[in-house]
Amino acid sequence: MRLVPLGSTGIMVSAVGFGGIPLIRLNFEEAETVLRHAVDRGVTFFDTANRYVDSEEKMGRAFAGLRDKVVIATKTGQRSAKAAMEELELSLARLGTDYIDLYQPHQVSKPEELEALLGPGGAMEALEAARTQGKIRHIGITSHSLAMARKLVATGLFATVQFPYNIVETEAADNLFPEAKAAGMGILVMKPFAGGMLDDGGLALRFLRRDPGLLALPGCDTVEQVDLAVDIFAAEADWTEADEAKAQAYRDELGSRFCRRCEYCQPCPQGVSITYAMMYRVVAKRMSPAKAVKFAATTMESVRNCLDCGECATRCPYNLPIPEMLREHLAMFDSHKAAQ
Ligand code: SF4
Ligand code: SF4
Repeated sequence: MRLVPLGSTGIMVSAVGFGGIPLIRLNFEEAETVLRHAVDRGVTFFDTANRYVDSEEKMGRAFAGLRDKVVIATKTGQRSAKAAMEELELSLARLGTDYIDLYQPHQVSKPEELEALLGPGGAMEALEAARTQGKIRHIGITSHSLAMARKLVATGLFATVQFPYNIVETEAADNLFPEAKAAGMGILVMKPFAGGMLDDGGLALRFLRRDPGLLALPGCDTVEQVDLAVDIFAAEADWTEADEAKAQAYRDELGSRFCRRCEYCQPCPQGVSITYAMMYRVVAKRMSPAKAVKFAATTMESVRNCLDCGECATRCPYNLPIPEMLREHLAMFDSHKAAQ
């Protein structure tokens, strides 16, 4: 496996990483098999989050005795110093380690979140203190909002930026990655399969392989998926006209009814958790319907409050028919619930 620098951190990592969300749907034994296989195949960078149910704990158990062979990144969704420090301690305990290589405030999207994060008593205070104490080696950032990600990069406070990028979500290539590279930041690519919407995994990964400055984080739940990712990143980059035609077909298919998770539609006056509800179809595919029903219960129950006012749809830059899609997803959720 080729090793590449993680921005200017001084840490070398495998040319492809591992995204931890799919571990949610595996049991501990299965997760250990997949994670240990990834290590055996030379993968050294593993990304998870406090919010990914038991993913951190599964990594912790799988990496017992292997701590010096893996670079671990995780995330906190908390914005206050106190709550972020509590989540950091939780991450350390679940991962069974006394330090985390990369700790990332998770999905910072709105101006008020940025203010809370960086302001007095904000999470950054705690993370910087934790870095001084040696509990964190580096602080990165994640966002789904292009405008916010650019703002976060411009602060100069973060060693890495993690952002969605794939065949159908390409905006970052021209608008974010050049700025992050110029700042010496590592670029972590989440959603390489567009949240499960790109079912040709090889094509999706070869698309990312073209830019050696990106660290893709494919989520794997089988050893075969690990092998596919490793083999693609071991090969020379290639991208044919036929590949581009297939990529364009995905763009044509998904482009008009595909939620990009930018959150411009929020907030809903009725408290509907729009973005996550818009992802229900994908979540159910990724986790299995039975787990999705539990994982997304609060989100999907909030959809029952929708009054069909259409306010959210007026704010969607992609003109998605949000109320209609929410109704479809609620019907799907109800059918999954009934099948239990
Ligand atoms: S259409 Fe429904 S989800 Fe959208 S803003 Fe109105 S109440 Fe909220
Ligand atoms: S529904 Fe539209 S505005 Fe809302 S997160 Fe998805 S793409 Fe963004």
